Amino acid sequence: MATFKLLLLPGDGIGPEVMAEVEKVAAFIQQAGIASFEMERGLVGGSAYDAHGQSISEAHMQLAHAADAVLFGAVGGPKWDAVPYDVRPEAGLLRLRKDLGLFANLRPALCYPALADASSLKREIIDGLDIMIVRELTGGVYFGEPKQIIDLGNGQKRGIDTQVYDTYEIERIGRVAFELARKRNNKVTSSDKRNVMKSGVLWHEVISALHKREYADVTLEHQLADSLGMQLVRWPKQFDVIVTDNLFGDMLSDIASMLTGSLGMLPSASLGDTDKKTDKRKALYEPVHGSAPDIAGQGIANPIAMIASFAMALRYSFNLGQAADMVEKAIADTLAAGLRTADIKGDAPSTVSTQQMGDAIVAELKKAI
Ligand code: NAD
Repeated sequence: MATFKLLLLPGDGIGPEVMAEVEKVAAFIQQAGIASFEMERGLVGGSAYDAHGQSISEAHMQLAHAADAVLFGAVGGPKWDAVPYDVRPEAGLLRLRKDLGLFANLRPALCYPALADASSLKREIIDGLDIMIVRELTGGVYFGEPKQIIDLGNGQKRGIDTQVYDTYEIERIGRVAFELARKRNNKVTSSDKRNVMKSGVLWHEVISALHKREYADVTLEHQLADSLGMQLVRWPKQFDVIVTDNLFGDMLSDIASMLTGSLGMLPSASLGDTDKKTDKRKALYEPVHGSAPDIAGQGIANPIAMIASFAMALRYSFNLGQAADMVEKAIADTLAAGLRTADIKGDAPSTVSTQQMGDAIVAELKKAI
């Protein structure tokens, strides 16, 4: 049985509450003899600031570097609104992304049949939806220089951001998308704005060349980012894997995620380059939601996004696709049996707590063995 090093960073607010449910799922995977986990725990965000005066300590960064995968809960909350900018809770997450070189953000948009009526779109448009948005996470206009506001001296100011991409950055995110498509429905839609942006012209050129050279077996389509936004709400099932830059990915992944309902349902993965010597890649898995201070401590948070993030770790870091399928099926079956946390209540007659939802998912897993 393979052993994997897992670092748990629960963070703040509902982070520790939803992480506790992942621990139950991981314990089950271990008891079932599927894999074993060497688990370390660390602090990040406000909880790290309270303990160490930093948003993540050097010691816990070292643990992150040594881990096969990092599971991250959520950070932030009003308690830390006034802390100095460079030690604010979010700085811990940004440091993890930067130091681990996590350039590829994967956000699946999956519609569980039991929740299809909770979407703002019609059931037939989203029932059975399963798409993956691959967003470039460490380049583009959020990081390009110059980035400044200049005083023009005539009562006017000028705000400047720079959209910049090099060939290698586009190639490596393209590779992630093509490799994923090969394990899914073998189709990639690449999105840019080459009609008005030079970086878009290069994006299109590099993705097309990579496709021709290494991934001709995968179907490749290109769509302008504005048109893709429109198509995502018109007929999202036409997509399999969508690859795009940091800015467009930020917006398109939020649109895609809301096709399927509550924030409490949405997992994500952030991946780095594969180390050629060890064949391993740095990876961090986290729910899309934040620390939800409005419901923290009440035991009512939905743990599904966190548990589904762990399923992504099983699939992408530990190569345990079957175990990931089992966890995802256990989530779907729990929902199909009618269990609902408050955020996805809809017309359900009653709701369950965070712990009850976690226990029910583990109970479904037990049935599968
Ligand atoms: P949020 O995602 O924390 O909450 C938005 C709304 O969704 C709230 O009403 C919340 O109760 C609900 N919600 C979120 N997750 C839920 C879950 N699992 N189950 C049930 N309901 C859930 O976003 P926000 O309110 O804008 O931000 C709160 C704090 O979280 C802020 O400090 C923000 O900076 C931080 N934040 C952190 C991350 C992160 O750690 N990656 C991401 C977003 C926001």
